[in-house]
Amino acid sequence: MLLTLSTTYSPATDLGYLLHKNPERCQHFELSFGRASVFYPEATPERCTCALLLEVDPVGLVRGGVGLAQYVNDRPYVASSFLSVAISQVFGSALSGHSRERPDLAKLALPLTARLGVVPCRGGELFLRRLFEPLGYAVQVSPIALDSQFPEWGASPYFSVELSGLVRLQELLSHLYVLVPVLDDQKHYWVGKEEIDKLLSHGGQWLAGHPAREEIVHRYLKRQRALTREALAQLVQAEDQLDPDGAEQVRATEEMALEKSLSLNEQRLEAVASTLLESGAKRVVDLGCGEGKLLECLLKHRQFEELLGIDVSWRSLERAHERLHLERLNEAQRGRIRFIQSSLTYRDERLAGFDAATVIEVIEHLDPQRLATFERILFECVGARLTVITTPNVEYNQRFTGLPTGQLRHRDHRFEWSREQFQTWASRIAGRYGLRLRFVGIGLEDPELGTPTQMGVFER
Ligand code: SAH
Repeated sequence: MLLTLSTTYSPATDLGYLLHKNPERCQHFELSFGRASVFYPEATPERCTCALLLEVDPVGLVRGGVGLAQYVNDRPYVASSFLSVAISQVFGSALSGHSRERPDLAKLALPLTARLGVVPCRGGELFLRRLFEPLGYAVQVSPIALDSQFPEWGASPYFSVELSGLVRLQELLSHLYVLVPVLDDQKHYWVGKEEIDKLLSHGGQWLAGHPAREEIVHRYLKRQRALTREALAQLVQAEDQLDPDGAEQVRATEEMALEKSLSLNEQRLEAVASTLLESGAKRVVDLGCGEGKLLECLLKHRQFEELLGIDVSWRSLERAHERLHLERLNEAQRGRIRFIQSSLTYRDERLAGFDAATVIEVIEHLDPQRLATFERILFECVGARLTVITTPNVEYNQRFTGLPTGQLRHRDHRFEWSREQFQTWASRIAGRYGLRLRFVGIGLEDPELGTPTQMGVFER
């Protein structure tokens, strides 16, 4: 893994003073996961480049119990949280903005370019640009082919990246320190509360005003919601002090953005709930309701007068009762919601007569040979005016770096469909029952792979 930092500031070799590394020498540093070497491929008064070469020991990682299950993994070759650790250990003073010999230069914005040989980026080039462009960099991204001998195999999730700008060296290092693991979307160590302090100490200055800050914080903290909320709250507090008038506005948008960007599950609930609200439906049946998350959300809206959750799993229904505290609801509320046990592959008269039916992340749990029966039950026996179905988009799975190729998202999934497969299935049904049909993507969209969840909305 190679990171190079170049400047054309004159004299360019002052970079050595800023990094506290002599351009004349090659230096090695032993780190817990391997070795870092620092050397200067070029060092002239016009142009100076410092290289940080990181050799991660993959076998040592496995022995050290880092949790990477295989000896063969990409960690030695790509920019990841190992790079952040190396930056903080090898360029510690520069990262904190200190320079013994050139203290004034450390405070100056200089023409700097950082090059990263291989950056794994979950979210693709667009996401990469969304992170670095708002910070003022000119960003050059070159996708790396999966195999250069077989261009028809397409692109890999890796990119080489060049960032150029007029920045302080300390800023550039802190941007890399925070954002490289965010791009990679994984970390080689356990993330706890102390990680918030690290994030705020390296990102505090620029993160509060970054348009993608919710996503940055969420990914940086390994998608742990409690930590994310705490970090964002602290960031907003810091911003309040800078701009007391805008603070309330910021907090409101932050909350909205948080709800929107954090969990796919919440985005899905929101998309379904707003479809139902718009349709004017009053009586809704949620088929395969699980723990009742959708109905819990619908219960808050008075528009919905009757809500019925059905699931084949008794355990899920019990959890729904517990989560919604049904016994504590007042009589009027209590009369609005019910749960019953039933299966979607058997006719059940109790499911008929609703304005809307929702089937959220359920069809992929059905055996493919039961789908035809399910279709008839859903569109003939339930037969609601509005039917909403969501299911994973399997194309998007390659963006989940923790998911081995070809593996489905959940152990109980019998299949997962591409957009085309889902649309073909849904269109055939719409044709057969004379329904209007539209498709909506849910979650952050990848330009090639689409969104993580797909939703079909059928209307009579
Ligand atoms: N809709 C919920 C749960 C999705 S998980 C949510 O979005 O959170 C899938 C659910 O489908 C599980 O609760 C499972 O018990 C239920 N399910 C699977 N097969 C079913 C069947 N044949 N009939 C009814 N429910 C079924």
